[in-house]
Amino acid sequence: MSTPPTAPQKKAPSRNFVQQIIDADRKAGKNGGRVHTRFPPEPNGYLHIGHAKSICLNFGLAVQYGGKCNLRFDDTNPIKEEEQYVRSIIEDVRWLGFDWEDRLCYGSDYFGKMFDCAVDLINKGKAYVCDLTADQTREYRGTLTSPGKNSPFRDRGVEENLDLFERMRAGEFPDGSRTLRAKIDMASPNLNMRDPVMYRILHAGHHRTSEEWCIYPMYDWAHGLEDSVERITHSICTLEFENHRPLYDWFLDALGVFHPQQIEFARLELTYTVMSKRKLLELVQEKLVGGWDDPRMPTLSGLRRRGVTPESIRAFCDRIGVAKFNSTIDIATLQNCVREDLNKRAPRVMGVLRPLRVVIENYPENEVEELDAVNNPEDPSAGTRKVPFSRVLYIEHEDFMEEPPRKFFRLALGREVRLRYAYFITCRDVIKDESTGEVVELRCSYDPATRGGDSPDGRKVKATLHWVSEKHAVDIEVRLYNHLFTKEVPDSTEEGGDWRENLNPESLEVLPSCKAEPSLANAQPGTRFQFERKGYFCVDPDSTSEKRVFNRTVSLRDSWARAQKKAAGK
Ligand code: ATP
Ligand code: MG
Repeated sequence: MSTPPTAPQKKAPSRNFVQQIIDADRKAGKNGGRVHTRFPPEPNGYLHIGHAKSICLNFGLAVQYGGKCNLRFDDTNPIKEEEQYVRSIIEDVRWLGFDWEDRLCYGSDYFGKMFDCAVDLINKGKAYVCDLTADQTREYRGTLTSPGKNSPFRDRGVEENLDLFERMRAGEFPDGSRTLRAKIDMASPNLNMRDPVMYRILHAGHHRTSEEWCIYPMYDWAHGLEDSVERITHSICTLEFENHRPLYDWFLDALGVFHPQQIEFARLELTYTVMSKRKLLELVQEKLVGGWDDPRMPTLSGLRRRGVTPESIRAFCDRIGVAKFNSTIDIATLQNCVREDLNKRAPRVMGVLRPLRVVIENYPENEVEELDAVNNPEDPSAGTRKVPFSRVLYIEHEDFMEEPPRKFFRLALGREVRLRYAYFITCRDVIKDESTGEVVELRCSYDPATRGGDSPDGRKVKATLHWVSEKHAVDIEVRLYNHLFTKEVPDSTEEGGDWRENLNPESLEVLPSCKAEPSLANAQPGTRFQFERKGYFCVDPDSTSEKRVFNRTVSLRDSWARAQKKAAGK
């Protein structure tokens, strides 16, 4: 049946450039239409939000095309790699919501295979053992503007190369004394092609192969082979590997093995954030943060502890898309994704961060009322709960002003406001600390006719405040977070100086004496709430049975952006 010409054309959703490449490959029948990707972290640090972009892309493509995605540890450098990183990476990828089924792979599992392939290249006259030191090798390599020089060992015979390479493996030579190099072209305009090192001698134990090896493969040699062994169809990496692609291709062509397609995309950078694993490691080692999972860190474990959901990270990765040019994403984009998700799922509660005592003078001394409060206006199925109301309450200190400016509509002397789900109250008197002049208590009256927060005579108030009942309140600690850095690009090389100088001294504010409604008394670590008017919070594992600790995940609005605008006079 043909479509009538007037029928509206359904627009296909736009495809990113990686999907376009895969679409074309499948159309051409490449790899029998198979799609198999991998996420290949090196276990030398914890995963961060940049890795999440790569994880969502690789695992996402596998889902979209009915293909597969491997989780593979690119563990070829024993010096920086540790078992604790392997464990955390597995936990984080799983937490993000992805499944590699039985395909948990390790580059180190292929060390034997890589060695055999290297022997193959020696036999083909395409690799040689070189005795130049690291400094000499660098010197011989030349520069971007001048060609390199051939190593004096470049024309060693196959037999001698085989013998020396075997003895390198057998541990006969000290670290750094020899390398195995590919014989390509010392005059290539691409420096990566100037006889790159394939193996180095390193007498170091490996977290998986232990003392079995004292030669270790270099990244470019190892990576393509790992992809090939796993029959990866599309090997997706970040843009800085673009000029490594000719080498990736050269190795696989020289061996004549299965040849995946390398595709490069732009890495994620975020404002007010450093994303380099080396810098994140320094933050941890120099104790500039509390650890890899400090809620201010851009690591997945830090974001998790802060209360960020995997759903919001996936939504963020979707929103920013995949492109071929580098750009820095505003961290507010991530925070907005977090707000949108938590708005749907976080139950509302009342908590007072900076308590100010309020006595309702005309409310009976020992009376307690259980008032109905809505758990989530976005989700009627979340139902309601009871919140106790009594004569003495706490409200937020900043919700009262003795001399209110024109646009301040909250509580002031003689003024009436609504207490959420409760009553209208009017401030009658202010009690101050005699020595400091600080306001320590308010004396108020309530109107019994306004129960539930509505006035029968249609009287209007301009503000609704959250509150907790003093004798029912639970004591909690609240930790508020700000950007970890004060500069949008903390490690910009333009201004010079050390990136640590841009650390924000006010990135963490601890409020040890907050008050919350009794429903929070047994809240378990990892549980998320919206504190009405104050933001989204998540219970921290530092909580004890005496005192719950809450991390603020994100405020309700982007107050940083507003403050910046205000400062700029906009
Ligand atoms: P290293 O300097 O240690 O190589 P790395 O950040 O590249 O650091 P890997 O563990 O090698 O860390 O990264 C695993 C995968 O995650 C790689 O495919 C890499 O391209 C990708 N990746 C790393 N950082 C980002 C980022 N900021 N944005 C997108 N992808 C990233
Ligand atoms: Mg890397």
